[in-house]
Amino acid sequence: MKVPAEARVDLGAIADNIRLLRERAAGAEVMAMVKAEAYGHGLAEAARAALAGGATWLGVAKLGEALRLRDAGIAVRTLACVGVPGEPYEEAVARDVDLMVGAMWTLREVARAAERAGRPARIHLKADTGMSRGGARGGDDWEELVDAALTEEALGHVRVVGVMSHFACADEPGHPSIAAQIGVFADMTDHAEKAGARFEVRHLANSAAALTVPEARFDLVRPGIAIYGLTPIPGLGTFGLRPAMTLVADAALVKRVPAGSGVSYGHTYTTARDTTLAVVPVGYGDGIPRHGSNLLEVLAGGRRRTIAGRVCMDQFVIDLGDDPLSAGDEIVLFGPGDRGEPTAQEWADALGTISYEIVTRIGSRVPRAYP
Ligand code: PLP
Repeated sequence: MKVPAEARVDLGAIADNIRLLRERAAGAEVMAMVKAEAYGHGLAEAARAALAGGATWLGVAKLGEALRLRDAGIAVRTLACVGVPGEPYEEAVARDVDLMVGAMWTLREVARAAERAGRPARIHLKADTGMSRGGARGGDDWEELVDAALTEEALGHVRVVGVMSHFACADEPGHPSIAAQIGVFADMTDHAEKAGARFEVRHLANSAAALTVPEARFDLVRPGIAIYGLTPIPGLGTFGLRPAMTLVADAALVKRVPAGSGVSYGHTYTTARDTTLAVVPVGYGDGIPRHGSNLLEVLAGGRRRTIAGRVCMDQFVIDLGDDPLSAGDEIVLFGPGDRGEPTAQEWADALGTISYEIVTRIGSRVPRAYP
């Protein structure tokens, strides 16, 4: 079926990016982070491409995402970060989803769910090494969590298979917190091992650390953004990664208007002369940032054009001058950049945000295509 707009995802690029990350990880396994619809690229499709490229684990944020991977027939080791009390942990254990445990309530709830499921839950202890977000802090909180986990393990309710943490500033090379977090992670891991933990995997590195901090790699790296071909550290270039997503839309309407025509809500753009306008059928309801009004560029008829006036819910307008364009002609909003179109990184820079947000926010109304 013909659609007004689509996000084309190059699955070969995802597989290649995983290969590149595996080479850089030099022996560490790769857990492909496919949370949030694989950063907007499509959960199951991106997961399969990542596995084809050599990832051996998948990681998601929410339990529901892990269960959807299972529904899609993907049986590989999958780690879900535990959310709130009362989620279907019994189903997670029954369906062999690894669970991140960073708080006492989580451990208790997961252990009781495992008893009901009749098999031990595979858990990864989450250490808060300095991000002050999820996980247990070193000292009493960590000791309590480790001791309780090992007790549940002795009772056959859990298997403590992993220890993990997350960087706060890995995208700022040389930031002192990077070395500090590695040190705290090593100490907390050491404490747990001395208490009797036998971890299969110790993991800490996101994309930025996997690419630039060898001593952060441990047994497993957990890249997200780099899998999709976007750099985790814009100041350091692309690392040879290939952007996987190209967002396109067909012109819905092309028309001449006179000089002095106010364009879109609020008339924040006025045509300087007689000109041709094109209506592009995507808007903030599809994830095009409204802050991109009169700011973001797209590629239309081979030339960059800035969005003219405000982005609406379902459409925006561009000013073509005297360039020819017809309804149905394809406009490239962002992509790898090899045809002259902006990249997601360029959009992010213009908006003062990160490329993660640009690709992840493209909504479900925009079908993903896998040409
Ligand atoms: N690991 C965890 C726990 C995460 O929350 C994330 C994403 O924020 C990642 C790994 C991947 O991070 P990045 O996309 O920066 O590689």
